[in-house]
Amino acid sequence: MEFALSDEQQAIAKAVRDLMEGEIAPRAAEIDEGEKFPAWVRELFQRYDLFAAMLPREYGGIDGSLLTQCVVMEGVARVCASSSMVLGNQSLGATPLVLAGSEEQKRRWLPAFATGEKLASFGLTEPNAGSDVKGLSTRAVRSEGGWIVNGRKCFITHANVADLVVVFAKVHEGGGDQITAFLVETDRSGYEVDKIEHKMGLRGSTTCSFVLEDVWVPEENMLGRVGEGFPILVDSLNKGRISVAAQSTGIALGALEASARYCKERTQFGQPLARMPAVQQIVADMVTAVDAARCLTWAAAYKYDTHAPDMVRYSGMAKLFASDAAMKVTTDAVQIMGGYGYMAEYPVERMMRDAKIFQIFEGTNQVQRLTVAREFFASL
Ligand SMILES: Cc1cc2nc3c(=O)[nH]c(=O)nc-3n(C[C@H](O)[C@H](O)[C@H](O)COP(=O)(O)OP(=O)(O)OC[C@H]3O[C@@H](n4cnc5c(N)ncnc54)[C@H](O)[C@@H]3O)c2cc1C
Repeated sequence: MEFALSDEQQAIAKAVRDLMEGEIAPRAAEIDEGEKFPAWVRELFQRYDLFAAMLPREYGGIDGSLLTQCVVMEGVARVCASSSMVLGNQSLGATPLVLAGSEEQKRRWLPAFATGEKLASFGLTEPNAGSDVKGLSTRAVRSEGGWIVNGRKCFITHANVADLVVVFAKVHEGGGDQITAFLVETDRSGYEVDKIEHKMGLRGSTTCSFVLEDVWVPEENMLGRVGEGFPILVDSLNKGRISVAAQSTGIALGALEASARYCKERTQFGQPLARMPAVQQIVADMVTAVDAARCLTWAAAYKYDTHAPDMVRYSGMAKLFASDAAMKVTTDAVQIMGGYGYMAEYPVERMMRDAKIFQIFEGTNQVQRLTVAREFFASL
């Protein structure tokens, strides 16, 4: 496996680091406290062309490589996980179109996603269908020239600001229910966001419920064919999880750096915390976890970019390892900073709250373990 960064990718990593330190770091706590979608971050990312790292080159993207996307995601999440959702969710919402859209659908939406002019969301989860996605109850029925969609979605990132939501619904045809994907513009009559959640972390990223009440979409808004929704959502999440692993690595790195810097300055018993063997042991494990998470994430991105047959296993391993690492590293960061680590004045308190969701969304880590084991046994 070769996944060393090219000169261009290294330059992107440096540019992202500088941008995040200069513009976002001073306002990351404010983004968290604001509990709303940070429109100014979207504009900043538009100005610096960061949305382009989420899309294929032929539709306005930088190079279409998932490794480049991971470099950007890690760099952004290192400073502000909520800001990383502005980009990560764009990728998740756009991926079904990239994978299964007609040329016309792609030309209509992807260039606008690549500039950030339009925003996308991924509408899968429902109150009674989380890990068990086949339990969806949103339904689409044929109507004159299109489809009428009815249902309710919950926990959908940025559904209150998105221009387009990819909605997964069941169509009863061919003697059974078939999961099918539809492109639903959010200005269609019958689409209404009726709840924005108050959350433990990732507070600068809105998590929404919406209802679909007799929403009519034309035939050309169906993505793929009837019954192709399930492979579309599985393939999209296999990619999305690698990006989530990169975000997790970034959060862990941010907490590691902030807490280690503090330990060099904070003196107790006449010496800096950084000189104490008990603290060094913890920091050594944190450093190791961050580097291991990055290696596995980049390996998974390489597998994705090269269409390797074991990509699905790598995607699951990267997501579960990196997000578990983020939770452990951020918790340890709070610990080695003592009472100060627990205070909102320092960023590790926010980072620890932000890390938790990465073990849950895009397929919980318990479900990832099932996937990893299944894929591994199947490969023997
Ligand atoms: C902040 C946030 C943002 C989100 N954004 C989006 C989004 O943009 N789009 C979207 O569609 N969804 C989104 N989600 C939903 C998210 O993907 C789901 O919450 C997640 O898939 C888990 O589903 P659930 O919450 O219903 O938990 P459940 O499926 O009810 O799981 C509860 C517990 O049971 C365990 N469990 C369930 N089944 C099994 C099993 N077979 N074996 C072992 N353990 C099992 C789980 O691991 C978990 O610990 C978001 C959620 C959050 C919190």
